[in-house]
Amino acid sequence: MLKGRVAVVTGSNSGIGLGIARELARAGASVVLNSFTDDEADHKLAADLGQEFGVEARYIQADMSAPDQCRALIEKAGGCDILVNNAGIQHVAPIPEFPVDKWNAIIAINLSSAFHCTAAALPGMSDKGWGRVINIASAHGLTASPYKSAYVAAKHGVVGLTKVTALEQAGKGVTCNAICPGYVLTPIVEKQIPDQMKTHDMSREDVIKNVMLARQPSGEFATVEQVGGTTVFLCSDAAAQITGTTISVDGGWTAL
Ligand code: NAD
Repeated sequence: MLKGRVAVVTGSNSGIGLGIARELARAGASVVLNSFTDDEADHKLAADLGQEFGVEARYIQADMSAPDQCRALIEKAGGCDILVNNAGIQHVAPIPEFPVDKWNAIIAINLSSAFHCTAAALPGMSDKGWGRVINIASAHGLTASPYKSAYVAAKHGVVGLTKVTALEQAGKGVTCNAICPGYVLTPIVEKQIPDQMKTHDMSREDVIKNVMLARQPSGEFATVEQVGGTTVFLCSDAAAQITGTTISVDGGWTAL
């Protein structure tokens, strides 16, 4: 279905980004994996993925906290039909104690990188008359939780950027949408568990059941394959008129 399309997925050497890259490759797209590291393992990940699905797959190092590196990623990809702005980090603290460097990093990586990559990718998409920009926001792009000020602000910003991108590209064959996952058990979530155990004085199992999944009515984590499958759907012809909106993959979180 996506043969001949080049997909760039930011922050894709683990978690949801890697899951999305795998589903795009399964659908036949050439994929560019990315993160800020430049290890042998990163390049091997891309080579293995390419071999598994019989597609071209490359790893390009670029730090999504640096605007020039965001733009260089798109340039080095040498074409980008599908852009998935996925890179993201988290930090949890009350506002008065929230470290300024963490605030700046979260806004840069979770929000500004989507702006810079999109700005670099749109001209090529418009020229071709086909393109897909898919922003990985969050249930926290639509709702809030205490102690996640930077993350919630950045993800709400991503939803706003999604709408503006869609309006500017309307009628040009280029769509832009945001996927809003609820909890998906990936390293970013795994890292929050010890903090939450401390904050709530709870066991790991109780944090998962009573804190994290308390807001997810299904009582189950969403999976990276489900977020990847939603991404592939947004690239399909069936989704050509879906633009400027959000799709929740959250087990009912935002219905509450
Ligand atoms: P993760 O920690 O597994 O993955 C984050 C990815 O971003 C990694 O590949 C990491 O290397 C990359 N990254 C971090 N800093 C970067 C930088 N400076 N430059 C380039 N890459 C960088 O986390 P995840 O859960 O897979 O999260 C992926 C996205 O999904 C994030 O935007 C996150 O906010 C969002 N999300 C996650 C969940 C969840 O429950 N896991 C829920 C909603 C939204």
